[in-house]
Amino acid sequence: MRPKLTFIFCLVFGVNPFVSASEGCPVLEGNFQPGGLLWGKTEPNARLEFNDVQVPVLEDGTFLLGLGRDAPNKLELRVNETSLCPIELQTRQYRISRVEGVPQRTVTPPEEQLVRIREERRRVRSAKAKRVKREEFLFAVKSGLAWPVTGRISGVYGSQRFYNGKPGNPHYGVDVARPTGTPVLSPGPGVITLAEPDLFYSGGTVILDHGFGLSSSFLHMSRIDVQVGEEVRTGDPIGAIGATGRATGPHLDWRMSWFNQRVDPQLLVPAMP
Ligand SMILES: [Zn+2]
Repeated sequence: MRPKLTFIFCLVFGVNPFVSASEGCPVLEGNFQPGGLLWGKTEPNARLEFNDVQVPVLEDGTFLLGLGRDAPNKLELRVNETSLCPIELQTRQYRISRVEGVPQRTVTPPEEQLVRIREERRRVRSAKAKRVKREEFLFAVKSGLAWPVTGRISGVYGSQRFYNGKPGNPHYGVDVARPTGTPVLSPGPGVITLAEPDLFYSGGTVILDHGFGLSSSFLHMSRIDVQVGEEVRTGDPIGAIGATGRATGPHLDWRMSWFNQRVDPQLLVPAMP
């Protein structure tokens, strides 16, 4: 077909002749910003690659992409090694703040704690590497999560703190301040893959796997009510708020990850009541 005829053909049949680059690209929906989750649907047997991650595809073709804190404005999803699908994100600004009076012990960990910290990181990594494959968990997340606890939001995703003048890692969770002992409920269904009463930085810590690379973590808890391997549903008690580990006061720090990308839990829940 000559170019002119192709153009007319496309107009008549409603195909845009100028977007052939996105041929075979799935339609995506969700939060097109760093920290967001994108949902798409493709052929059930499609091979998807995003940020060096082989993206799992559910039986009906549904898939999920997680966008990290520092995700660039332009990304690409590779489909079946044939299509490169462009994804454009909005830019996002993060809050910068300073915290004084953090106990020195936790700012620069003493030499003898380094072995412990490394060992704890290894345990957290291997818990996150467990890949639960329960499609109903992921569909429940898609239809929205519940706040694990309600209260004043005292910290947000992406913000960066300077502890006693030293820059800390960016904050990847949403913090909710409530007194020690306030129950923490599961924001969605999943399987517990880590339940540690006393990690050096995060204190009482629980990891909840929602499946297909998506997990929630709950930090600084004073009490843990679940065990590794236990299945929980939305609203089930998982523990209680505390100030364990590196915390300046009692609060819940709720984080979410999609493979190696940290995503923002606050984008998945309704406004704080
Ligand atoms: Zn926090």
